[in-house]
Amino acid sequence: MNFGYSETCLDHDTGDRHPEAADRLLAVREGLKRKHGVEYVDATPATVDEITAIHDEDYIEELREFCDDGGGSWDPDTVAVEKSWDAILNSAGLAAWAAERALAGDHGRDTPFSIGRPPGHHAVTDNAMGFCFVNNVAVAAQYALDETDAESVAILDWDVHHGNGTQEIFYDREDVFVVSVHEDGIYPGTGRTGETGADDGEWSTLNVPLPAGGGDPEYVAVFEELVEPAIEGFDPDLLLVSAGFDAHRHDPISRMRLTTDGYGVLTQHVRDLTDRIDGALAFVLEGGYGLDVLADGVVMVHEVFDGLSPSTPDDDVDDEVEALISDIQTRHRGVTPPN
Ligand code: ZN
Repeated sequence: MNFGYSETCLDHDTGDRHPEAADRLLAVREGLKRKHGVEYVDATPATVDEITAIHDEDYIEELREFCDDGGGSWDPDTVAVEKSWDAILNSAGLAAWAAERALAGDHGRDTPFSIGRPPGHHAVTDNAMGFCFVNNVAVAAQYALDETDAESVAILDWDVHHGNGTQEIFYDREDVFVVSVHEDGIYPGTGRTGETGADDGEWSTLNVPLPAGGGDPEYVAVFEELVEPAIEGFDPDLLLVSAGFDAHRHDPISRMRLTTDGYGVLTQHVRDLTDRIDGALAFVLEGGYGLDVLADGVVMVHEVFDGLSPSTPDDDVDDEVEALISDIQTRHRGVTPPN
């Protein structure tokens, strides 16, 4: 894969005991060492215009001044230092680079994966939250729509937390389809099945809140029966994966039970899906707080594009998840039930 990476993203210093630390990127780099076919690309930072295409101008100005003044705690979870501003611009720029490269035809072994930080999917139009300041994947989606021939973008968020910021930014938009598969009942508390979009964006939001404890069989069923038919029906020019790795069974902050091979199987599903719809595909890093399993997850995504075919045990899908799937199939008009 081609990884978008910038040293400036290491300078976003969140302090000694913060889970969203520069060590995350160093662990990923270490994991990718000696792997076949890894290329690094340093993208250009996003411009303020590219960011304010989806964020409120006053908020972004306030954020710039906040960093300029040395930073501090924006909220108890979301902290910045002076150099965070450059990291924020670079993290968004890397995501836009990934979208641009995918739409320019980079695929297969050249599939782009932007590994920036801070992450982005909790950042809403006019505020930072949940370790996120600028919504990188949303900047990338809007960049694709504004600066390339792409007319529609789907965002698939498999981070264990609901991508509330991405949902909010595109909630009334018909050109961006937002899918989030997340653990029910944890931060930030949104992402219910009834949140399906509004106005022109009605049915262009799909939420799959999974009960705690779900693992590979549940995720695969959700992908096959909900996520893939929904995205195929929408038929986007570009699919962006908001790729968090905090649903891993060994991640310290969630109770989901995906395995590393499970992430590989989900990656195969996403790759095969974009092949079927002839769409471009790019990955954008979100969360993942167990350093080893974060690195293993990113390496697994890379290895799938390098030819590995992981498989997971063919266990039964939890009854509660089966019921959730059929409930969403019944109610959500963006999902066509399989024949
Ligand atoms: Zn997360």
